[in-house]
Amino acid sequence: MTSLSAKLQAVLARIARAARHYGRDPGDVALVAVSKTWPARAVEELALAGQKAFAESFVQEGVEKVAQLRGLGLDWHFVGSLQSNKTRLLAENFNWVHSVDRLRIAERLSEQRPASLPPLSVCLQVNVSGEVSKSGVSPAEAAALAHAVAVLPRLRLRGLMAIPARSDGLAEQRRPFRLLRELSERLRADGLLLDTLSMGMSHDFEAAIAEGATLVRVGTAIFGERNRA
Ligand SMILES: *Cc1c(COP(=O)(O)O)cnc(C)c1O
Repeated sequence: MTSLSAKLQAVLARIARAARHYGRDPGDVALVAVSKTWPARAVEELALAGQKAFAESFVQEGVEKVAQLRGLGLDWHFVGSLQSNKTRLLAENFNWVHSVDRLRIAERLSEQRPASLPPLSVCLQVNVSGEVSKSGVSPAEAAALAHAVAVLPRLRLRGLMAIPARSDGLAEQRRPFRLLRELSERLRADGLLLDTLSMGMSHDFEAAIAEGATLVRVGTAIFGERNRA
């Protein structure tokens, strides 16, 4: 059995290789390890191997791990779907929320972000080409939402996120990622200070890096297959 640390190193090496292959600086592509369904001790093992950023999809599970691992100085990202009655737990416990897709949720996160913490980093989830989860703002409505979120005082709008439908073949995988990059370029030309393209998972992160991902969210390739979503 390969250790978690060895799998982490293998994924980091693939990220660096893909970045160089596409003419990018490997330092410009961050890895967020998606630890949903895996126990806190697995996260701790990876933290000791040097991985600092982790993502969760379920609020309660994530909040428990944040509490168990306080003191390790980890960055916690939330990538799951958002419900109004869970925003306070996210605002109080996480560093990032990637899945903002409506203004009301963003307003709640801003209102509920404790004054003792820095502004919450957020990405807008955009529904590019048949997004699996069916959540995400439509590309046509993304600019209006981005401008409204950018002025909320306790949030820092960092960029865009997408979860395209699974496809095989590099050219096909690159298409939705390219749409997200082009949308991000338009928003930046419009004056928004975006520094993040959150795209790419275990099966397609190389395609995402080819299209400019600055942050890839990888679970299975590090932890192995999950028993549940
Ligand atoms: C589960 C999940 C991931 C990681 O997916 P893998 O295929 O296990 O790498 C990435 N992003 C989101 C939003 C997820 O829910």
